[in-house]
Amino acid sequence: MTAYDVVVVGLGAMGSSAARHLAARGLRVLGLEQFTPAHDRGSSHGDSRMIRQAYLEHPSYVPLLQHAYPLWEELGERAHQRLLTETGGVMIGRPDSGAVAGSRRSAEQWGLPHELLDATGLRERFPTFSPGDDEVALYEERAGFVRPEATVRAQVEAATEDGADLRFGEPVTGWRATGSGVRVSTAAESFDAGHLVLAPGAWAPRLLDLPIALTVERQILHWYAPTGGTEPFAVGRHPVWIWEDPDGDEVYGFPALPGETEVKVAFFRRPVPADPDHVDRVVHPEEVAEMDVTMRRKLPALAQHTRAVTCLYTLTPDSHFVLGRHPEYPQVSVAAGFSGHGFKFTPLVGEILADLATEGTTPHDVSLFDPARPALRR
Ligand SMILES: Cc1cc2nc3c(=O)[nH]c(=O)nc-3n(C[C@H](O)[C@H](O)[C@H](O)COP(=O)(O)OP(=O)(O)OC[C@H]3O[C@@H](n4cnc5c(N)ncnc54)[C@H](O)[C@@H]3O)c2cc1C
Repeated sequence: MTAYDVVVVGLGAMGSSAARHLAARGLRVLGLEQFTPAHDRGSSHGDSRMIRQAYLEHPSYVPLLQHAYPLWEELGERAHQRLLTETGGVMIGRPDSGAVAGSRRSAEQWGLPHELLDATGLRERFPTFSPGDDEVALYEERAGFVRPEATVRAQVEAATEDGADLRFGEPVTGWRATGSGVRVSTAAESFDAGHLVLAPGAWAPRLLDLPIALTVERQILHWYAPTGGTEPFAVGRHPVWIWEDPDGDEVYGFPALPGETEVKVAFFRRPVPADPDHVDRVVHPEEVAEMDVTMRRKLPALAQHTRAVTCLYTLTPDSHFVLGRHPEYPQVSVAAGFSGHGFKFTPLVGEILADLATEGTTPHDVSLFDPARPALRR
């Protein structure tokens, strides 16, 4: 039996990032993934993910994002691909909405460049939007999008080049602590290692062995072909955007990606509980109709729905991540519960997991994500 320094379970966004950082540090890494690289059954598919710094969720994320941006550049250079595209972003809503007030709070607290636009200013600058007269927008230049499938592939490739042993089609059936190390099992084999990184995405409730409340939800990504062509939605002209209604409902979207004729939009939350192994992958007419009605009101050029796919969220009760050492086993690190907003942190999460596995601690402030925090308790 080969001995490894670290076993990584789950090679989606966070696990493949951890494997890459660990391999780059010269560790003997085994990665185990139940499906193929960059598959579409978890949380890391659908062409684009939003990235932004004026973080409406909490100002504590801002320094982490400031660390993540250069890591995105570095990964893109290594992969000879553009993984991060800065397009500018608008957060739209009433002045006291979470989207506007929350992003403003982060921007002001951290001195991030931003502009406030009233409804007229927003309509003039970005004519695709139809805001109400009482709505405003915070514009942030450094917002944009990253590419999920290309990111996972780039991380898998870099880790493999640096010597990691990454195996696909290998579901992990269980793990246990063995003195100071771990033993990880698949149907056919067992592996011993000094450290275990658990990054199982929507399968976390089964694999973490922690008394924490995680909810898996099915979400939908929709694509529309803009009436009158994609030009007004092109990268360089159109920002990424989040739009919050007075009842707290949020919808968001992207420019047309280079070479594409469609535009992607989604509701941030539609709480449909899901079992990751039995997800209803069919998008139903009433789900399309709900988005049609919303687009007619907010971006009327998006009238022609073309396709939709499902994707999974793993939510924590406070919507903050679970990232740190396993409270019971210091030789195990966990990365889960990214609550629908984790992708933009991918290269940094891998660095943090590599810090935890090698040093036992990380210089990044991850106290908000403590796996033992009371807010997570079931
Ligand atoms: C519709 C949608 C929109 C989103 N939009 C954004 C956005 O705009 N910006 C943003 O920052 N974030 C966004 N997110 C969230 C972000 O994509 C996720 O937080 C991130 O992808 C989670 O990565 P992960 O590595 O935890 O999960 P995954 O990438 O799903 O990886 C987990 C992996 O573990 C594997 N695995 C699980 N159990 C086992 C096992 N027993 N054995 C072997 N392998 C196993 C799975 O097969 C999977 O490959 C969005 C998510 C969705 C679904």
